[in-house]
Amino acid sequence: MSRYTIHPLCVGAIHNFEKSTLTYLGNVGTKVSIPLIIWAIVGENRVILMDSGPDDPAWVRANLDRVVEREPGMDPVSALARIGIAADQIDTVVISHLHWDHSGSLELYPNAEILVQREELAYANCPAPCFCRTYAAPIGGHSPSWHRVARRIRPVTGDFTLAPGIDVLHLPGHSPGMQGLSVATANGRIVLGSDTFNLFENFEQGVPPTIHTDIDAWFRSLERVRAITDTVLPAHDMKVLERASYGA
Ligand SMILES: [Zn+2]
Repeated sequence: MSRYTIHPLCVGAIHNFEKSTLTYLGNVGTKVSIPLIIWAIVGENRVILMDSGPDDPAWVRANLDRVVEREPGMDPVSALARIGIAADQIDTVVISHLHWDHSGSLELYPNAEILVQREELAYANCPAPCFCRTYAAPIGGHSPSWHRVARRIRPVTGDFTLAPGIDVLHLPGHSPGMQGLSVATANGRIVLGSDTFNLFENFEQGVPPTIHTDIDAWFRSLERVRAITDTVLPAHDMKVLERASYGA
């Protein structure tokens, strides 16, 4: 049976972040630090990456007026090297959704096929006005960094098996084309749901993210994941980083 190990790699952080952005209007006024994480999934002679984090912090500041703190050695190539992986070893990058903090720096992976839901590709180019900066959307006057690698993107549709033991799950709610991964590990199934679950409490308490395009779809996605596993790893919870790897 196929088994994988999941390595969460922190490639930056946003400090003084309004927590109510993550927890459906709860915790107004509470400020938190959130990590920006890329996920290396290793096993069965595969190295798969889920999400690529933000673009270079200077690009983010210049193009989106957002501040990403990145300490020396926190860049994706260095973070991967610390677990013994060269960026050109990665054969597949699964982009959960095209928000700027999950889909930058993709030119770092020259040998990877990049998988994005077709629905997400369409929406990212022409989102609701309030999401133009979140997507760095062309109709908002931006040029999203993923456009630079567009010819290497493979549009995908709905659920499918990516590899033995790794299933792609279409989990709409936070965005229309959100996709997560259900990964077989020695400790059972672990779901990487990206911003479907910003924090553990989104999953554990059933609290949707404030940023969403379809809240009813989010609740259906929550129930779907709960039917698969009780172990999820959220996208922006510092507690994730208390362990170097999961599933082994
Ligand atoms: Zn997002």
